[in-house]
Amino acid sequence: MKVNHAFLSEVHLNPTVQGLTPSATLAINERSDRLRRAGRQIFKLGLGQSPFPVPRPVVEALRANAHQKDYLPVKGLPALREAVAGFHRRIDELACRGDDVLVGPGSKELMFLLQLVYEGELAIPAPSWVSYAPQARIVGRRIHWLPTRAEHGWLLMPEDLERLGREDPGRPRLVILNYPSNPTGYTYRIETLQALSEVAQHYGMLVLSDEIYGELFHSGGHRSLAPFYPEGTLVSSGLSKWCGAGGWRLGTFVFPPDLRWLLDAMAAVASETFTATSAPIQYAAVRAFEGGPEIDDYLRRSRRVLAALGAHCAARLREAGARAAPPHGAFYLFPDLSALAEPLRARGIATSTALCERLLEDTGVATLPGADFGRPPDELTLRLAYVDFDGAQALDAAAGLPDEAPLPERFLQAHCGNVVEAIDRMCGWLAV
Ligand code: GLU
Repeated sequence: MKVNHAFLSEVHLNPTVQGLTPSATLAINERSDRLRRAGRQIFKLGLGQSPFPVPRPVVEALRANAHQKDYLPVKGLPALREAVAGFHRRIDELACRGDDVLVGPGSKELMFLLQLVYEGELAIPAPSWVSYAPQARIVGRRIHWLPTRAEHGWLLMPEDLERLGREDPGRPRLVILNYPSNPTGYTYRIETLQALSEVAQHYGMLVLSDEIYGELFHSGGHRSLAPFYPEGTLVSSGLSKWCGAGGWRLGTFVFPPDLRWLLDAMAAVASETFTATSAPIQYAAVRAFEGGPEIDDYLRRSRRVLAALGAHCAARLREAGARAAPPHGAFYLFPDLSALAEPLRARGIATSTALCERLLEDTGVATLPGADFGRPPDELTLRLAYVDFDGAQALDAAAGLPDEAPLPERFLQAHCGNVVEAIDRMCGWLAV
C-alpha cells in the first residue's frame, strides 16, 4: 500500500508560530557577523551583549566545577538558590529565602515558562524588549501595549496602568516592567515605582520586575519595585548582563511565598522540558551571586565606563538633532529622530526599519528599529547598544584612574574607539 507522505513536504505549523521569524536581537547579531566575515567594517550596536569579561573569581569557580556532571534539582542547586536570595536581600531589600528562587537556562526561558503557565493577558509598555510579546503570541496570550511618551523617557506612567486596570478590573494580567530599561537605558524614580505598585496591587495585577540590568544602574544603588508590592511581584535577574555571561545562559526568578503554586507549576513544566540548568554553570553562579569586594570593584568600573560612554553618545546624538537624554543604566540608547523626519523622508526614509537598514548600508553601523520594540513603524526611533569595544581592556584602564571624576573623553577615544567612531559616523550620516 502506498503511504501518503505529503504531510512531510507541506508546511504544518502550529498557528501560533506561523510567520514567526528569529528574534531581532539575535538576527542582527548573526547578520553583523556575516557582513564582517564578508569583509565589511561593521559596528556592532545591534545585540545587547555585555562588553565586559566574566569576573575572574566566577571564571575560576567554573573551572573548578567543570567536572560537575550530575543532573541538578529542577528548581536549581540549593546553594545557588540561597546565594540568589542573599543577593536580592542585599541589593533589593527583598525578604526572600532560597525556597523562593527558581533557576533556569536564561531569564528569557523563565519568562516563557511564566507566560505559558500563568493564564493572564500580557501588558507591557511600548517600547519593551523584543521577546516579551512574541512569547505571549507563541503561548496564545492577548497582548496589551501600554502607551508611553518620549517626554517621560518612554517610562510607564501610573495613570496609564490605572487606565488599563479600570478597563476590565477582573481580568488576570501580567505586567512586565524592565528597569533600567532595554531598549531605552532609563529607569524609574522611586516615587514612580511606588505609584505603579499601588495601581498593580489595587487591581491584583501580577508584576514581573525584570531587573537584569539593576547592577548596571550607572550611579549605583538600583531600587526595586518589589518591596512596595511584595505579594504580587516576581523579580527576574541572571548572569547575562551585570556578570558579562550571556552565553552561559543562567537566569533567576524570585517569587513571593504566596505564589509558590506558580513557582511549582513552572518547575513542573521545566522538568518536562529542559530538566535543569547546566550543572557547572550553576556552581559557578553561586560565586557570582555571593558577590564580595572583587565583584563590587568590577561592577563599579563597569558602571563608570558605561556611564561615560552613554553620556558621550547621547550628547553627540543631541548635537546631531536627536532627542536623547543621557541614559541612567544598562548599555542602551533609544534616540528619537522625529525632528529630522523631513530631511530623512527626502532621502526616502519614512520608517524606523528603513532608517536602520540605510544606516547599516551606508555607514556599517548596526542598530535595531523602534518598531521591533513595539513603537509605531513610522516613528523614527532606534535602539543602539553601545557595547562594541574591548571591555577587558577598558576595565583595566579604568582601574588606574582616580575614582571621583567622570572618565575623560580621551579615555573613550582610547578604549571604546569603535563605539565613538560608530556614533561619529551616524551623526555625520544624519547631517548629510
Ligand atoms: N537582551 C539582549 C538584547 O536585547 C540580547 C539577548 C536576547 O535578546 O536574547 O539585545
